[in-house]
Amino acid sequence: MRYINFTSDPPAIAPDEFFMNEALKEARVALSLDEVPIGAVVVCNGRIIGRGHNLTEQLNDVTAHAEMQAFTAAANYLGGKYLKDCTLYVTIEPCIMCAGASYWTQISRIVFGAHDVKRGFMRINQQITHPKTEIVAGIKENECSTIVKEFFQRKRT
Ligand SMILES: [Zn+2]
Repeated sequence: MRYINFTSDPPAIAPDEFFMNEALKEARVALSLDEVPIGAVVVCNGRIIGRGHNLTEQLNDVTAHAEMQAFTAAANYLGGKYLKDCTLYVTIEPCIMCAGASYWTQISRIVFGAHDVKRGFMRINQQITHPKTEIVAGIKENECSTIVKEFFQRKRT
């Protein structure tokens, strides 16, 4: 007789938190490269189709933010530049450049962890993202901000 042991199933986790964990994994990859630890994934129909982490030092490229890497990877995967019906998960509020790039992708949702009061796009009192893009903030906020804070604290000591 076969039976399914439900008790061994992993605990249920909300999709936004699940995918933010994946973005955090990318942030940790950036950390291991001594990059500012910010990570991102693009999800379409419950699947990760693009990953990215900050690579500005490795690439000597100020535009190599996690979101830009993830957008490019997702567009390559889909074979098209638009990311309609996709969600971007990113550990820190996107900057104006990345929010602007998200406009061009027409992405459906942006979910970010922690606000960036200095560099985040939300400090600009103007619509930068696509009007159809839903914004969700504060998913795993503490974890997302702590990894960046600790990185800069170590840099200062
Ligand atoms: Zn950015």
